[in-house]
Amino acid sequence: MTETATQNSQKKIGKKEYLKGWIPYSVKRYWAYALFTFIALVMPWIKIGGNHLFLLSFDHKKFHLAGVAFDMQELLPLVFLLLMLFVGIFAMTAIGGRVWCGWACPQTIFRVIYRDLIETKLLRLRKRIKNKQQEPDMSKPANQIKKVIAIGLWSLFSIVAAADFLWFFVPPEEFFQYIQHPSEHGIMMGILIGVALFLIADIVFIKENFCVYICPYSRVQSVLYDDDTIMAVYNPNRGGDIYAGEGNDRHKVYEKKKDLLADNPAAECVTCESCVTVCPTHIDIRKGLQLECINCLECVDACTVVMGSQGKPSLIEWNSEHEVLDGGHTSFKRPKVIAYLSVIAIIIIGLFMAETSKENMLLNINKDTRLYKAEAGGKVENDYTFLFQNTDNKKHQYYFEVQGLKGINIVTPKKPFSISAGFKKKKIVILETDKVLVKSTKQDTPLPITIKAYAVDDPEKIVVFRKSVFVYPRIDKLKK
Ligand code: SF4
Ligand code: SF4
Repeated sequence: MTETATQNSQKKIGKKEYLKGWIPYSVKRYWAYALFTFIALVMPWIKIGGNHLFLLSFDHKKFHLAGVAFDMQELLPLVFLLLMLFVGIFAMTAIGGRVWCGWACPQTIFRVIYRDLIETKLLRLRKRIKNKQQEPDMSKPANQIKKVIAIGLWSLFSIVAAADFLWFFVPPEEFFQYIQHPSEHGIMMGILIGVALFLIADIVFIKENFCVYICPYSRVQSVLYDDDTIMAVYNPNRGGDIYAGEGNDRHKVYEKKKDLLADNPAAECVTCESCVTVCPTHIDIRKGLQLECINCLECVDACTVVMGSQGKPSLIEWNSEHEVLDGGHTSFKRPKVIAYLSVIAIIIIGLFMAETSKENMLLNINKDTRLYKAEAGGKVENDYTFLFQNTDNKKHQYYFEVQGLKGINIVTPKKPFSISAGFKKKKIVILETDKVLVKSTKQDTPLPITIKAYAVDDPEKIVVFRKSVFVYPRIDKLKK
């Protein structure tokens, strides 16, 4: 028996002490699932100041974030959001392994609803949630009928889930209008049905194979782990080595199961296999870290019950290998974690700045190819095309003024004009001067100007500044 195993055996306490007031991880996970499901269902409905909390509308070419509407030309916040998602995943994985998979991923939540709620609890197609290895006997006609009912019930869930997914791209208020005229909204209906069919195929037939073989996250997560990453860890120091093999505890090549007690009479694992039968990805965590483990912690609950009935702590813990295998203390202040969190903090600051510096109108200025037009009386005109866009959610009156150069008048447009919410308007703009701005005898002179464009009804908030030039001709080209 190893030193750690001896110490742990000495910790043995009263029978069932470990189960007193114990709340299984599965119960905590169900609460987490309820919370995330609630957030996913409610979030698309939340509006702040007329804009959604989150919406990526390809239809309206709009992106809403925290109640601020961005045009497709101003996708910087979306870039920040994607960056945060990637770095956030790295940080979360380095700290908590595949905690997302076990506690928040829709795939896992849907499998729990389908397999544990519908198939096991409601229809009794499966015998026990604790035995996920035993597939129903589908040769029995009664089970075949139950399976059809189960798929029918799941199909209803799938349609709701597919609709909820779409609401992040098509606002719910429009979704329910469109769905009444399906022939006019073929793409949306196609995506809705396609996503629902995928969810049926995935949850009923592909199952956890999706997590193991298809999900790209499972492919990359192992490189993000280190010895301080929290995950489901079996303690071979107490439980004993179940498998014979080469290498150390973390990287063993497993060959076959050992005769545990013959090999190590002090081993605490009773080889009840509860941790194996309960595992949704069909692995034996006693082999050490495996790619297939989704951190659902069902094995921890199973072993807590088995060992708790003997007054001992679970042989499988939600902890780091560093703490369980080496007896050290899990460190969260690792350079890798600090670097990830620092990058996330920088991204959040960038996101906040992008949100607060958001312009509620857009303006593109194109100068006419003709540099200027000299008119009688020494007047000079420059022509432009201004493209205004109202990115706010209500109609506004717009106008502009010329700054940075004295003596420039606006010939056209003469007065403010209105643009509806989300619409663009092209305006031919003629600027004119009757002052002598430059007395150059050699060349035409481009003089910098600034256009201050604004909403007449809210000039403080809805205002943009754009640089351009006013070209003044050589003095000999002026007309008297
Ligand atoms: S080994 Fe299986 S039961 Fe245990 S946490 Fe991983 S996936 Fe869940
Ligand atoms: S549940 Fe615990 S005691 Fe039973 S086989 Fe798994 S590790 Fe051993």
